[in-house]
Amino acid sequence: MEYTTRYCKYCDETKPITEWYIHKNGAPYYKCRSCTRHDERKRRNKNIEDSCGSMFVPLNAGVFADEQQKECVHSILNSLGFRYNEDNKIWWKDGYRKEDGTFVKLRPYKPKLNRKKITMEVIKEIYRLYYEEGMKKVNIARELGVSDTYVCELLKK
Ligand SMILES: [Zn+2]
Repeated sequence: MEYTTRYCKYCDETKPITEWYIHKNGAPYYKCRSCTRHDERKRRNKNIEDSCGSMFVPLNAGVFADEQQKECVHSILNSLGFRYNEDNKIWWKDGYRKEDGTFVKLRPYKPKLNRKKITMEVIKEIYRLYYEEGMKKVNIARELGVSDTYVCELLKK
């Protein structure tokens, strides 16, 4: 199908086909270029408003695209209990970070408990304890030093 002009019901005008964007399949858009652009701009501006003033969040801390974005970030951090130190430009909060920027001592890393390696003997023992002794799954896991999840998965089969 060939078009030379086309009617746009959004602006109520008939325009030459060169005023339309064309889909990859060759069909023109259902709105003319100018209506498409207008809607795209409207959509973009709404996005900007919905995302604290700018879609583009600068990568540097304390640097904002505009006032609205700055207010938004400050309001979020304030509501989380953070306070801003104007002198050193640092957000701080009791129990997390001190006003001078040093972090409060974090909990030490605890490695996972060493679980027993699962061998055929362990599997047989799990079945025996469950089906012969009638032991609860959680107790089997504790007894044999394997995870609860493993015991449950195994006995599901
Ligand atoms: Zn139009």
